Amino acid sequence: MAFDVIIVGGSFAGLSAATYIARGRRSVCVIDTGNPRNRFAAASHGFFGQDGSDPRAMIAQARAQLAGYPQVTFVAGEVVDARVGQDFAIVLAGGETLHAARLVLAHGISDVLPDLPGLAERWGKSVLHCPYCHGYEFAERKLGVLALSPMSAHQALLIAEWGPTTLYLNGGDRPDEATHTRLVQRGIEIEPAPLVALTGDGDTLSGVRLVDGRTVAVDALYLAPRSRLNSPLAERLGCALDEGPFGPVIRTDSSKLTTVAGVYAAGDIARAPHSVSWSVADGVTAGVSVHQSLVFASLAA
Ligand SMILES: Cc1cc2nc3c(=O)[nH]c(=O)nc-3n(C[C@H](O)[C@H](O)[C@H](O)COP(=O)(O)OP(=O)(O)OC[C@H]3O[C@@H](n4cnc5c(N)ncnc54)[C@H](O)[C@@H]3O)c2cc1C
Repeated sequence: MAFDVIIVGGSFAGLSAATYIARGRRSVCVIDTGNPRNRFAAASHGFFGQDGSDPRAMIAQARAQLAGYPQVTFVAGEVVDARVGQDFAIVLAGGETLHAARLVLAHGISDVLPDLPGLAERWGKSVLHCPYCHGYEFAERKLGVLALSPMSAHQALLIAEWGPTTLYLNGGDRPDEATHTRLVQRGIEIEPAPLVALTGDGDTLSGVRLVDGRTVAVDALYLAPRSRLNSPLAERLGCALDEGPFGPVIRTDSSKLTTVAGVYAAGDIARAPHSVSWSVADGVTAGVSVHQSLVFASLAA
């Protein structure tokens, strides 16, 4: 089966790109495994007109609206390979191959969480990464930042804007003198002992247990984990990657075109920092760019 465009990933970035391609009356196939990055959170904050909405409901609504366009095909499935020839051949996990003149990658990233009992099950609930997304709800409560890299001290300096903050070094290196001074100036406590577990009832965090047996009260724990791309497609196609602050980022120009002709990338995979709003905006840019590349490619030079 052949389409003008195939989009790998049907969440915020992919559906936004698809909307503009469909409105440009080109055929587009959205292939998706249905696991958006923020699926762990009950509410998504900050997106225009949808502050506090259930992220899955936001996606479902966008998808339902897009389904009204006859140019759109949805495929539930995983893309496992992509090859460039006369067009793009996109291979699904079941072995089926779909073809398209252009490809938009919007498959998102995954967070690589530290292996600490009680942490993963509270991710997106009381273990958080972004204060703009979820910090307001924990304002003036007892906040912690789990040190995972030297950047964590900077994260703690920011988080303190929302409430009294402790930086948990978790047995790692102490901040250098200049950073230590800034942390103290900001009123941030520094706890050097390693953590052994997070404690609390269900999704609610109530404290962190330290290796020496103490339990310190914490209502929300922030961390900035490493991330990985959800798919190796970009590398396989020869797209250049850059090392971003959290993990690999697919290199794109201002039109979200990668370094490989005809391959676009949008959303968390092609930028840092991340949010639903930025993913949607980049999806729009990719959708318009890919549409115009199809329009102008068919005109004589
Ligand atoms: C816990 C948490 C809470 C967050 N809360 C907020 C918030 O409140 N506000 C905010 O603005 N941002 C929030 N974010 C950030 C937000 O989730 C991301 O910026 C956003 O989801 C990125 O959208 P995306 O379309 O690029 O990727 P994603 O939403 O991650 O979607 C990628 C899609 O591609 C699919 N996919 C992956 N691989 C394949 C493949 N090989 N084949 C087919 N499909 C594939 C996935 O299943 C998924 O549906 C949060 C993030 C986390 C981790």
